[in-house]
Amino acid sequence: MRSEQESRILEEAVAQADSIAIAGHIRPDGDCVGACLGLYNYLQENFNASFEKEITVYMKDIPETFLFLKNSGKPIWEFEEEKQYDLFIVLDCSSGDRLGEAAKYFRSAKHTLCFDHHISNSGHFTEKLVLYPDYSSTCEVLFTCMCEEKISLSTAEALYLGIVHDTGVFKHSNTLEQTMCIAGKLLSKGVDSSKVIDGTFYEKTYIENQILGRCLMESMLLLEGKVILSYLNYKTMRLYNVDPSNLSGIIDQLRVTKGVEVAVFIYEVQPQNLKVSLRSNGKVDVSKTAVFFGGGGHREAAGYDVHGFMHDAINNLLVGLSHQLEEE
Ligand code: AMP
Ligand code: MN
Ligand code: MN
Repeated sequence: MRSEQESRILEEAVAQADSIAIAGHIRPDGDCVGACLGLYNYLQENFNASFEKEITVYMKDIPETFLFLKNSGKPIWEFEEEKQYDLFIVLDCSSGDRLGEAAKYFRSAKHTLCFDHHISNSGHFTEKLVLYPDYSSTCEVLFTCMCEEKISLSTAEALYLGIVHDTGVFKHSNTLEQTMCIAGKLLSKGVDSSKVIDGTFYEKTYIENQILGRCLMESMLLLEGKVILSYLNYKTMRLYNVDPSNLSGIIDQLRVTKGVEVAVFIYEVQPQNLKVSLRSNGKVDVSKTAVFFGGGGHREAAGYDVHGFMHDAINNLLVGLSHQLEEE
């Protein structure tokens, strides 16, 4: 499962660097947060015993339910004018654009390294791009690049969280035998599986349930029932006082609608700044649609950001999806 060569990539890159930055994509999900904190804990615990290295994680808006992870208070989102890292490690992120403001340190770093599982990853890194598109999550990729004996409970908890979230609790088709083996190895470190799964995936606040109910009620079946779509505009988000981290289960519930091939959920992050989430039940490759609109992802889960009016975004997307449905 673990290749010696790959565990050396991480160790060698870290050994040669005095200052290291770690960052993932904007609006971090479970895999991104798990990977960033899992790697941070792993490096601090094993390669920085006397704190001679400066290790910084850049992350903004960590969902509240993930704050039980060790060192979840460490990530920062403050940027100095002149700063150059020896090593910048990109996690769960397929392009520099999705690093947000942290991209400036990525561009100025002496060395860059990436661990990812997005098939659409097109980045250029000086050290290496460790990309396994068939792995469930970046946390699974990271596990295979770490030395198992050096993984502590706090690192295991973070990696387990990432695997749980990107597999939809081990139910998506990206859950392979290896995924379950790795999850088992993480459990053997003492991870409390129910705490992670119930506490971060299933538990919803009252408002989150209300907004989920509203989105399901207002959803539409389109393209002969092959597509289900729901959306939330900025005004409604403000009315409920919700942010993107409160909307995570909606697309999953849309996707399990019987007879549907593609589920779409769109929300307005800021006025006319739209975030589109796509899920497929297998036949349609939604990463192609997402890449066409400037985003990325995987065959069965992809997304993109678009500027404009909701109705234009929906119309444009439906044209793209109808072509793809015809191709199948
Ligand atoms: P989401 O719908 O945000 O849960 O994202 C589903 C998958 O698509 C994840 O693997 C994301 O990393 C990827 N994805 C979402 N939005 C984008 C984007 N704007 N650019 C590239 N990949 C994206
Ligand atoms: Mn992610
Ligand atoms: Mn991921």
